[in-house]
Amino acid sequence: MAKPIILAVDDEPVVLNSVERDLRQKYGREYRVMKSESGEMALAALKQLQARGESVALFIADQRMPEMNGTQFLEQAIELFPEAKKVLLTAYADTEAAIRSINRINLDYYLMKPWDPPQENLYPVLDDLLADWKVSASPSYDGIRVAGALWSPQSHAVKDFLARHQIAYQWLDVDSNPDGRALADSYSDGAAKLPVVSFPDGSVFIEPSLQDMANKVGMQTRAEARHYEIIIIGAGPAGLSAAVYGASEGHNVLVIEKHAPGGQAGNSPKIENYLGFPAGLSGMDLARRAITQAKRFGAEILSATEVVNVRIQDQYRIVTLADGTELSCKALLLASGATFRRLDVPGVEKLTGSGVYYGAAYTEARYYQDQHVFVIGGANSAGQGAMFLSKFASKVTMLIRRDTQWSSKYLVDAEAANPKIERLFNTEVTEVVGEPGHLSHIVTLNNITNEVKNLEGAAVFIFIGAKPNSGIVHDLVSVNDKGFIITGPDLIRDGKRPKGWTLKRDPLMLETSVPGLFAAGDVRLGTNQRVASATGEGGVAIAAIQQYLSTI
Ligand SMILES: Cc1cc2nc3c(=O)[nH]c(=O)nc-3n(C[C@H](O)[C@H](O)[C@H](O)COP(=O)(O)OP(=O)(O)OC[C@H]3O[C@@H](n4cnc5c(N)ncnc54)[C@H](O)[C@@H]3O)c2cc1C
Repeated sequence: MAKPIILAVDDEPVVLNSVERDLRQKYGREYRVMKSESGEMALAALKQLQARGESVALFIADQRMPEMNGTQFLEQAIELFPEAKKVLLTAYADTEAAIRSINRINLDYYLMKPWDPPQENLYPVLDDLLADWKVSASPSYDGIRVAGALWSPQSHAVKDFLARHQIAYQWLDVDSNPDGRALADSYSDGAAKLPVVSFPDGSVFIEPSLQDMANKVGMQTRAEARHYEIIIIGAGPAGLSAAVYGASEGHNVLVIEKHAPGGQAGNSPKIENYLGFPAGLSGMDLARRAITQAKRFGAEILSATEVVNVRIQDQYRIVTLADGTELSCKALLLASGATFRRLDVPGVEKLTGSGVYYGAAYTEARYYQDQHVFVIGGANSAGQGAMFLSKFASKVTMLIRRDTQWSSKYLVDAEAANPKIERLFNTEVTEVVGEPGHLSHIVTLNNITNEVKNLEGAAVFIFIGAKPNSGIVHDLVSVNDKGFIITGPDLIRDGKRPKGWTLKRDPLMLETSVPGLFAAGDVRLGTNQRVASATGEGGVAIAAIQQYLSTI
């Protein structure tokens, strides 16, 4: 197969040649580096590449070009290759243009000229973007192949797991791809068991569990020790941040994650309000960076491993894993976050994972290219989901139950300016109709006029809030009526410490009603359900844990 392409566009020959040289030096082995002296010439070449079925991984274009500037070029280039990453070369004075470009074309990065030395100013940025592209692009390689179907929730789970671990795979839809059908049929005993996953070493897994997948691809699923200073449950932003701070302070840290690291943020196609990333970054990208950082400091991270129970034994906090293994620690951090609230209307359960999805369903969205899809919800996550889906779908209808949206202004503005997005207010979904993999229509009710409508579309993406994952400690620590864990000063009621509290001190910041057991992030009462809050709380939790450890 042809190598994917990196295309540089600049009208200044000196700059163009030096960018080409730097790109070839580092990426020439894996990518075909092409250059063009103008946006018009580059677009003509791209049309030919598209006709030949080639793939483009990255555009790097100078903002200052006569006739067609960098932003204008990128705007047209992504019509041809929507998944390619977009980098703008700018001079200091072009910062305003770059910001406009971020808003207009979802620019991935703007790079200041000159970028010397490339090892510091060019390659780290492009490495990240290319790693991200590899995950989202359909790879043409002879690695892991997943034969499955849109209507199979297990296929969705396996793809999501591989994508979240940035493991490249080839997706073969059994309904549309003869190779996929053949692979699935050759391992079928008559019953349609999907997905069928084949590995380069010739082994094949049929309907694998996530733990099977994790073991096979070499993820750590077993702890190296029985005892740790700090155990963290959950590898979302709060857990990963605590792992980075805990391990960097020299503590012996284990993180246990039941799915793949990233948490809810892993569902976010673009986090635009996280400090330091003006062009935004995807939740998967954030998780990938955080995992690398935590491991570099020596934290251990288990994937596809669920904690099913927590108990206290003297000064030890003991967690039980799904396979019965018990691990102990001195301090335990609950960073188990929250899970999408389920939509309880007829038809949803039957179609979940195969036409109805919770969150933006990263891996599925592209299959709804040029189709009409629905987004249920009106908060930030729904707005982001709609913006992301509009890259693929012909139309995205947001169904919002109130008469207004409760999300950040930048998103409301972006939705309003997006011609593919339609917003229906005061609208509730009362039924989802279809067969797995083939949504026929949804039924909506206008809660002011009582008008009922049938709306045809290909898929429904649900974003209607989240509920805390506090079940494993529900009977152990104080929680509020919605299950959020109460911590620190909030535990003091009428000047009294929580029931059963025997220590002579008050609970520390983020400490629960059980000493040595802490909570951070979305599972905690009082957090504001943002990535930055979760990562901040992860760091604060480690400071509180250190204070606790100094007392035992
Ligand atoms: C689609 C979407 C888009 C969003 N976009 C933004 C945004 O743009 N900006 C922003 O600031 N915020 C955004 N948010 C909110 C943000 O993602 C959350 O506030 C944040 O992820 C909370 O982090 P957390 O670590 O507390 O919990 P989570 O992210 O929920 O992570 C908790 C982790 O714990 C694991 N876990 C749970 N129970 C167990 C168990 N028993 N054993 C082992 N592991 C367990 C879960 O699998 C999960 O990985 C978005 C949320 C969603 C859903």
